[in-house]
Amino acid sequence: MSLTPEELDRHRRHILLKEIGGPGVQKLRAAHVSIIGAGALGGPCALYLAAAGVGRIELWDDDRVERSNLQRQIQFTEQDIGALKAEVLAARLRAMDPSIKVDVVAERFREDAAPAGQVLVDASDNFPTRYALNRLAHQTGRAMVHGAAAGWNGQVSVFASGLQDGAPCYQCWVPETPPDAEACDEVGVVGAVTGMTGAAMALEVVKLITGAGKPLIGRVRLIAGLSGESRTVSLRRDAACPTCRIR
Ligand SMILES: [Zn+2]
Repeated sequence: MSLTPEELDRHRRHILLKEIGGPGVQKLRAAHVSIIGAGALGGPCALYLAAAGVGRIELWDDDRVERSNLQRQIQFTEQDIGALKAEVLAARLRAMDPSIKVDVVAERFREDAAPAGQVLVDASDNFPTRYALNRLAHQTGRAMVHGAAAGWNGQVSVFASGLQDGAPCYQCWVPETPPDAEACDEVGVVGAVTGMTGAAMALEVVKLITGAGKPLIGRVRLIAGLSGESRTVSLRRDAACPTCRIR
């Protein structure tokens, strides 16, 4: 699959990078990514992936746009209030690049859901979805790019327990729902922190697809917005992890 003159022009700044180049853009054009959540993290993540020319993007979300989302979910406008988030975001992505295919699944993610992407993106706001997606990623040998943000802090990691020997899954790191787990609408969060986190998730997807650099497999990047500090911490596989014991 060679790139058309339009694609060469559109993706010139990626082609100029030796780690991506023409072959990397071709891999992005051929890629299929499922994003679970079209809100504060899924929005910027999806926009950057569409701009990078990811050929097929599947968006899962059953929520509708509310006024209180607009403080951070910058893919939406006042006119979108009441509309399905996944539908509005899909329209944005198609407008950005009409050559990409965007599939909308306006359903709540369930345990028996079957996202089709080669990479699964956890941009959800709740633990049951995250654990279900983590199990699916492990059992089907796919990478899960995870992100979360609350307050002034964000976190990003890549879980590839079904792909790499010894790589941890999400549940190795967080064995069970933390007692203080609160949904995003119950705690404050700085909009710009969700944007940084969503963009960092897109960066990990681009690295996984193109083979550039070192994805955050077995590591979590912690973004501390208030202090301006950012650090990366290593994670280990838990021998007692219920997800990793199943194969
Ligand atoms: Zn595990």
